[in-house]
Amino acid sequence: MSDASSMYHKRAMLNHFLDRLISFFTTLAITDFTFYKYSFLCSAIKESDLKTYTVKDYLIEKPKKGFVILRHDIDDNPEVALNMANLELHFGLRSTYYFRDTRKCFQKEIMKKIARLGFEIGYHYEPTGKLETDSRIFANALKKFKTSEINIQTVCAHGSFKEIDLILLSKYSDIFKNMGVKGEAYADVGFNKLDYYSDSGRIWRHISRTGEIKLTNTNRIVDHILRKGVAKIYILVHPQWWSINIPIWFLKQLSGAISTFIRVIFAQLTTKNKRP
Ligand SMILES: [Zn+2]
Repeated sequence: MSDASSMYHKRAMLNHFLDRLISFFTTLAITDFTFYKYSFLCSAIKESDLKTYTVKDYLIEKPKKGFVILRHDIDDNPEVALNMANLELHFGLRSTYYFRDTRKCFQKEIMKKIARLGFEIGYHYEPTGKLETDSRIFANALKKFKTSEINIQTVCAHGSFKEIDLILLSKYSDIFKNMGVKGEAYADVGFNKLDYYSDSGRIWRHISRTGEIKLTNTNRIVDHILRKGVAKIYILVHPQWWSINIPIWFLKQLSGAISTFIRVIFAQLTTKNKRP
């Protein structure tokens, strides 16, 4: 064997070993919220008979069943959203990325890049309940998107599931429709009639007509998707909760554990000092 082919052989062996190692980690529930795990979910969607939709396309086509609406709320870390879009593109999936109008999130170059990959960009608005004031703020935000050459067709409210008030959100939807927007990601999608999965706060929840249950990990979502009968799926994924690789995932876990440890010690010390 020549030196060159021996080197090639060694590299191939190493790549094979790394592939096996990554697929081993991917099967473990412990490595949840990594991009490896996310690719596992994407692959499950691709392998299923379900078609993925952006919110805009779902509102236009209104399929009866056999679909996954894939939605991303960008509350923080827009860079991760671009990585996630590239990963979804690899699996041929479609999705909508909703960006807040904040200094951190409104990154027009990132939004344009994601749009160029064929994904929908939406506005992640923040309803306060004061319709008049909010509509002025939202009109300005839509103008800002427009001047940045980002075409907004749908919007999505920022806030936790517990705060979602569909009656109020349909009022917001009407306001947005007067501004030329096609629809709102909660009020117009009718998400309470679908199987809704959300990773908010890095905890998977399944919300359906029968109520809300916590799912221990992404593997459980994959089980649900591959199970026959679950045919109207709406998934919310926050890219910011997902780590691009194992070292970043490990650092996030470690910093989370350290901050919890410090909080516990601090709480114990303050309780001790308060004792008479
Ligand atoms: Zn949000």
